[in-house]
This record gives sequence, C-alpha cells and structure tokens, in this order.
Amino acid sequence: MAFTFPFSAIVAQDEMKLALLISAIDQSIGGVLVFGDRGTGKSTTVRALAALLPPMEAVEKCPYGCAPDQPAGLCPSCQHLGEGETPKSHKVPVPVVDMPLGVTEDRVVGALDLERALTQGEKAFEPGLLARAHRGFLYIDEVNLLEDHLVDLLLDVAASGENVVEREGLSVRHPAKFVLIGSGNPEEGELRPQLLDRFGLSVEISTPEDLKTRVEVVRRRDEFEKDPEAFIARWQEHDVALRDKILAGRDLLPDVVVPDAALERAAQLCLSLGTDGLRGELTLIRAARALAAFDGDREVSDEHLKRVAPPALRHRLRRNPLDDAGSNVRVGRAIEELFGA
Ligand SMILES: [Zn+2]
Repeated sequence: MAFTFPFSAIVAQDEMKLALLISAIDQSIGGVLVFGDRGTGKSTTVRALAALLPPMEAVEKCPYGCAPDQPAGLCPSCQHLGEGETPKSHKVPVPVVDMPLGVTEDRVVGALDLERALTQGEKAFEPGLLARAHRGFLYIDEVNLLEDHLVDLLLDVAASGENVVEREGLSVRHPAKFVLIGSGNPEEGELRPQLLDRFGLSVEISTPEDLKTRVEVVRRRDEFEKDPEAFIARWQEHDVALRDKILAGRDLLPDVVVPDAALERAAQLCLSLGTDGLRGELTLIRAARALAAFDGDREVSDEHLKRVAPPALRHRLRRNPLDDAGSNVRVGRAIEELFGA
C-alpha cells in the first residue's frame, strides 16, 4: 500500500497550499498553475490534498465515478440506472490523475474501444483520463511542454465540466468536473499568455531559503519515509481539523456575501494593474469568497481580497515596457496603494 504524505505536515509553500484549499472549496475558480523548481513537492502537495478529502460516494462500476445523489450530473449509463431507484454505490478515494507527457488526445478524451469494435462489432466508448479525473484533480507536470491544443482542450473541459466526444461514429457526452493543476518549470519555456489567463490561480514556489525551514522539510520527509504509518498517525488530528474546515467552507460558500465595496475594490485593483478583460476580477472575487468561506466568514473583506490577489492576478498582467519590475512586485505595489500597507 502506498502512503500519502499528510497535507498538514507540509512545511512552508503557504501560497500553493492556500490556492489548492480554496480550489477544493470552489471548483469554479478554474484550476491552479504552479511554477517552481523541481523537487519542491508540487505533486506531493496535490496528492496530499486529495487524500485529505473524505472518500466520495460513487456509483458502482461506473467508469466516471458518478455521484449517486446528483441525478443532474450523471453519465449516460447511470442516467438509466437512476430511474425509480438509487443506484448501488460505494466509497472511493478522491482521484488524482496524472497526465503523462506525450499523451495522445485519444487517451485524454477517450476513444472508440477498438477491441470491442473488432471482436464484437460494437461501437463502444473507452473512457479516457478525463473520465477518471471526474470529481477529483487532474495533474499535469510540465504543462508548458504539453501541446497547446491539448492544454486548450483541458481548460475547455475543466471550465464546462463536460467532455464531449464526436468522432469515429461515436457521440458521447459525459461529466468531467475536476480541478486542473498544471505545474511548470519557468526555465523550460513559457505558456502562451492566452493559456496562462485561463487558469484561475497561479502560484510560484521555490526551495526554502532559510535554514530552519530547510531542516524541518528534511526532518519530516525523513520521519515519513522511515515509518509512514506512525508519521501519518501523528499528523492525523491536524489533517482531520483541516478537512472539517474545508467541508464547513463548502457548506458556507453559497451564503457568503460579496458587498459592493469588495466588488469596487476588486475592479480598482484590476484597473490599476491593467489586467486584460474581466476574468481577473471574476476570479479575484470567487477566490476571495472561497477564502472567506474557508475562514468561516460570512462576508468578503479587504483582508480576503489582499490575500488572494497575488495568485488571482499575477499571471494576467500585460507587459509594461516602462516598468520592468516582475509581476509579483507590481501586484504587491498595487495592493499596497489600494489597501495601505
Ligand atoms: Zn456514471
């Protein structure tokens, strides 16, 4: 059995953890882009978050892991099951699906099941990675090395929550709601600005610079590898508390109020940064609302906006030829001007 490093035992990387937590509260924020050095635990953190979440109730034998209590979002085969009686279900862990480099579009979206077509003459659909990621996380390592059209496709499906396949005489439509996590190493090429902008949040992580943090990272990793069960048991209480906070946040989310003042602040911030379009403001507001819910607050405040503004906006800035400061510095400056230090 493989053990997963406990989320609450992950040292530092606060911005990445926050971005993932609020995406787990409101999936419509639109995924997270994580840029940073190799070996900073990007994949570990995503897996840790998925393992932290309670197992999901899923329809038995359904390749999409449909939720039995949500008749509106069922796949074609479960739609028939649901009539009159509740389909049989069981508990499954929240999926984390890895997108391997060099993957074909067929593997991603699904394709005609060739074996069945040849042996039984039936046109059946073989679900792809998008089906497996439903209700969980889709993790793309080195997203900047994936072909643009695939990234586009993933972003489309992530935004619509549905995978539509029309080819080889097949016509299939199935739910595919997942949080898209793309990781990249900036030294290996940049993502096109049009793609960047479509990710909800972006975070930058780096190897910790201070001695104490580095020592703690290594100490915990070492303890975990020596005796994973004991380590997980030691952190369980923290993980359970965090999980309860996420679940309470999901419940509270629909009731969190966004006052006009917060909408104005968000617009002012985007205006002063010159972000393109309205996606920045929308994401900023959604992320602030999810953070408020996570914190147990019923109203979005300046404090929530300030905390989520860097991950919501830093990848949406136009290059300013008169200002060669990095996007972090520019976002920080704009926040300070608007909210005060
Ligand atoms: Zn189903």
